[in-house]
Amino acid sequence: MAKKDYYQVLGVEREASLDDIKRAYRKLAVKYHPDKNPEDKEEAAVKFKEASEAYEVLSDADKRSQYDRFGHAAFEQGGGMGGFDFGGFAANASVFEDVLGDLFGDFFGGGGRRGRQRAARGDDLLYELGITFEEAVRGGERKISVPRSVKCTSCAGSGAKAGTQPESCPACNGAGQVSFRQGLFQISKSCGQCNGEGRIIRNPCRECRGTGTGHEMREINVKIPAGVDNGSRLKLRGEGEAGFSGGPTGDLYVALEVAPHPIFQRAGHDIVCDMPVTMVQASLGDRIDVPTLDGLVKMTIPAGTQSGRVFRLRGKGVPDVRGRGKGDELVRIQVQTPTHMTKKQKELLKKFDEASNDRGGDSVISGFADKVRELFD
Ligand SMILES: [Zn+2]
Ligand SMILES: [Zn+2]
Repeated sequence: MAKKDYYQVLGVEREASLDDIKRAYRKLAVKYHPDKNPEDKEEAAVKFKEASEAYEVLSDADKRSQYDRFGHAAFEQGGGMGGFDFGGFAANASVFEDVLGDLFGDFFGGGGRRGRQRAARGDDLLYELGITFEEAVRGGERKISVPRSVKCTSCAGSGAKAGTQPESCPACNGAGQVSFRQGLFQISKSCGQCNGEGRIIRNPCRECRGTGTGHEMREINVKIPAGVDNGSRLKLRGEGEAGFSGGPTGDLYVALEVAPHPIFQRAGHDIVCDMPVTMVQASLGDRIDVPTLDGLVKMTIPAGTQSGRVFRLRGKGVPDVRGRGKGDELVRIQVQTPTHMTKKQKELLKKFDEASNDRGGDSVISGFADKVRELFD
């Protein structure tokens, strides 16, 4: 089978710059990724191989000039530069993936895969903080003590005994990765000697037993925004556990547990207050003192207020935690039935009842009795 022209394979001009060649190849490598071509895995692998071969040559100034002068002959057995071996490459899917990953690592300027030490982010911490109802509504500030891991002070996080240094791993020369060639491609693996860290500690620090981390109790100021609710979580960036090998510190999450209030209950942004009133207040109407988060407020209940009726005090609720307005207070009337009455009170109520009967009694109660009669007749 005649080999296709490398420039044609990549779809670039003969004068194409290295950047053009890289860009063209990246496009093809993505296009012919086996995951993107589940129907034609084999065909895609062949195309990918073609593109890779073309890229390998055209991205190397020496090889490119050889190719420009001699064509494919430059790389055939016994030819100018010596041959390339693609044997068994496309058949090995996992190697295919590895190679693709490495190529992308190069392309995207990552290089992180081949990093010297495996930097890892520190763990996140969770702290449960109990706060009062008022703190949740108004916000506030709390000092908390959080046990957390930090860089060992004795060895400054290196893990090596004071006065000594971690040594470069002899197996990988400190690279943390060992590489070998498979066909055209360089394949890298994490070094087994040093677990990919690139260094070996011969004399571990006594304080931290070579881990490089110690522990401390840290005092942290927690700002509680107004309007938080039970179960709200605050995120304190960078207040978690120390990272490893220079990795970033984790975050601290503070989970809020709001204590119940003796008078108020929370319902989203609204607060509910069960307001007891006497039978007489409810019957005749009254002006009553209602507790709110801002103190006592005068509220009028009209004559004939039934138990369970809810009055809304606008803007007396909980502020939105993002600053979008405020909820209301819902005052729920609880008419108290008198207990432990004196003889005189009982007599007065009996007289009240007789006077009610003269007027046909209570309309709701007589209406209900009518409905019950209809039901059972
Ligand atoms: Zn140490
Ligand atoms: Zn190593």
